[in-house]
This record gives sequence, C-alpha cells and structure tokens, in this order.
Amino acid sequence: MVDRLVNSEANSRRIASVESCFGSSGVPLGVSGRVLVGEGVLTKMCRKRPKSRQFFLFNDILVYGNIVIGKKKYNKQHIMPLEEVSLETIEDNQQYRNGWYIRTTTKSFVVYAATSTEKQEWMAHINKCVEDLLRKSGKKPVENHAAVWVPDSDASICMHCKKTQFTFVQRRHHCRNCGAVVCAGCSTKKFLLPQQSTKALRVCDGCHERLKHTPSGDAGAGVGTAGKDEHKLNNTISSNSSGPAGDSSNDDDTDEDTASPAPEAHDEPRFYGDNSVLSAFEESAGAAAQSTTPAAAASSSISTSNSPGPGQNLSSSAAAVATTTSAGPNC
Ligand SMILES: [Zn+2]
Ligand SMILES: [Zn+2]
Repeated sequence: MVDRLVNSEANSRRIASVESCFGSSGVPLGVSGRVLVGEGVLTKMCRKRPKSRQFFLFNDILVYGNIVIGKKKYNKQHIMPLEEVSLETIEDNQQYRNGWYIRTTTKSFVVYAATSTEKQEWMAHINKCVEDLLRKSGKKPVENHAAVWVPDSDASICMHCKKTQFTFVQRRHHCRNCGAVVCAGCSTKKFLLPQQSTKALRVCDGCHERLKHTPSGDAGAGVGTAGKDEHKLNNTISSNSSGPAGDSSNDDDTDEDTASPAPEAHDEPRFYGDNSVLSAFEESAGAAAQSTTPAAAASSSISTSNSPGPGQNLSSSAAAVATTTSAGPNC
C-alpha cells in the first residue's frame, strides 16, 4: 500500500523533483492525494527503434518522457490515466527480453525492462495501482485499447496489399485501428475512432471495410464503444494531407532523434511503497525486495548489483541517455 505516503514530506519532495525535471515542458503534478510510487528507465518500442524513456508511476497516472539529462532533465511529457491502463506480458524472444504491453484507449506500446526482476516489479506495481484505483472508483477496466503500432522495420512491404515496397517515395503509414504498416494506396480513408481522437483517423482499407459494416462498439481493437454512431464519419483523406509526409505530420509517434538503441548501463528502478505488492513474486524473483526497501529508495547512489553492465558507471549511463535529446515529435 502506498497510502501512508500520501501526506509524507518525502513524497511531496519527490513529486516536486519530477516536476522540476520536466520544467516548463510538463504540467504540475502535485495533486492532492497523489503518490509517486516508483520511477525508472524503460526501453520503449517506438516507430523506428527502441528508445530509453524515463517513467514515473504515480498512484493515478503513468508519466513518461524523453531523457535530456539523466536524473535531471526530461521533456516530451506523456501522461496516461491509470484507470484505463492494462498490461500484458510478452514472452522473451531472441531479440527482445523482459517486455510487456502498456495499453490505453488512446495509445498503446511495448516497453522492455533491463532484467526480469525489474519487469516483475514494474508490472506488479502498475497492476496494483490500477486495481486500487478501480476498486476505489468502482469502475470497470477499459476494454477498448488503441492498437500497438507495428514498428517500421518489421514491414518492408505493405501489410495490406503485400505488393508495395516502401522507399523514400513510397512512405509507410500506420493504420490507427489495427496498427499495421500499409502503403498510401491501401490507406486512403479515415474513420472516426472516438476513443483515440475527435477527428477521423487514417485506417487501412481492410479495417475501413470492417468498421463501416460494424455497429459501433462491436468492432475490433481501438474502436469506440456504443453510442457514438452519430459521430461516425468516414471521409477520404484530403489531398493536402496525403502527400509524402502526410502520415508523419499527424503522428505523435515519429521519432526523428538520433538516440542510441538502448542504454548500455542501467539504473535500477526505485519504488517507494512497501514490499507487499511483490510478495507474490518473491519465489520467482528472489532479489525483488532489494530495490524496494526504504534504504534503497532513499539512496541516490547508483547500484550496479543488478545491472546488465557491471563496471559501467554513472557517467557512461548519463552520457548514454543524454543523447536522447531531441526536437520534433516524439513517442
Ligand atoms: Zn498497400
Ligand atoms: Zn487496419
């Protein structure tokens, strides 16, 4: 339980610190009753490649941002209400380990932790916060989540027509309903997905066919719930937004920075509540408690005990994450 932290000075101090790290690029986070439950770096799958992002778990929201200077300066703040967050584990494969989906109605993506213990800690804490929140509000978990976008690198040809080869001229577009990478010719139409936006969004021809014949609330991933029929639109994407850069201009998921793929050294996440949330995981993750003790939480020293790269120090870590500074849209 994190309730005991609600009125604690340490909690206020930590939240003020997060606020100041985002500076004018963020919104005030010091809301009555809010607790900072944990924080740390996760690798987020973005459209082009995986990127390091700083995550902050509060008892009501999940916040993440780009790392400008590790532990000091963040920007591109994103806030996800925990009430609509749902997680799903991803089995390890040869390329990626310790991953899971974070889904909300407006945005869904995949993140990876540095170790399986950290994955379990993050998932357990996030799930606990979501459960507590839903129990208090009496609300039901959200079921319609935005589609996870297929990374550009996973599609060299259009996933709909299976013909168009992507090039500088033949640009990739993402269907906002299914997340597939498709060519312009296979995504000429828009459809209103009310939970994602008040504007009609680009969808692939396959989804458009399905959506227009499906009663609202009964369609596939990311589609709005019942009662939105009167807002249902399906207009063709206008010529002035369908040029070569038409897709990118509407995306908040383009990533034009030059970040390194993943951090070489990694600070363990810190969680500020007690250990009870992890008790169920202790047999499978014996070290779970080590970074959730008050001593670890209060310490600002960098532990390498559980990091993938022993011998790599803070300065190399900071240097690695400092390169994620970027301008332009982000994810
Ligand atoms: Zn196509
Ligand atoms: Zn689609």
